[in-house]
Amino acid sequence: MKEDELNRFRQNLETLAEELENSLNSGKDLTAVVSLDDPIGRLSRVDALQSQEISLGLKASIRRRLEMVRRALDSISKGTYGVCVACKEPIAEARLEAIPETPLCVECSA
Ligand SMILES: [Zn+2]
Repeated sequence: MKEDELNRFRQNLETLAEELENSLNSGKDLTAVVSLDDPIGRLSRVDALQSQEISLGLKASIRRRLEMVRRALDSISKGTYGVCVACKEPIAEARLEAIPETPLCVECSA
């Protein structure tokens, strides 16, 4: 991959990492809202616990994605970015545009 292309993907990834970190931080309060001492009714407590679970699941997937973004940034500095980790073939650029953190080509991710 050309250096100016690499730089563009690096920028995409850095922006993405920032956005993911921001949504992790802004979601912090969501998981703290449910306390069992809260004088709320039984039903609303169930609702609250459910949304807490959803928000925890969301956070977990954001964290996983952030981890992949960091790995992709790492592979840019190592010079292995844009190469499928499974088949060692180049990953299509359109795919990298859509999912810049992916370590797999279309065929291997299927
Ligand atoms: Zn592959």
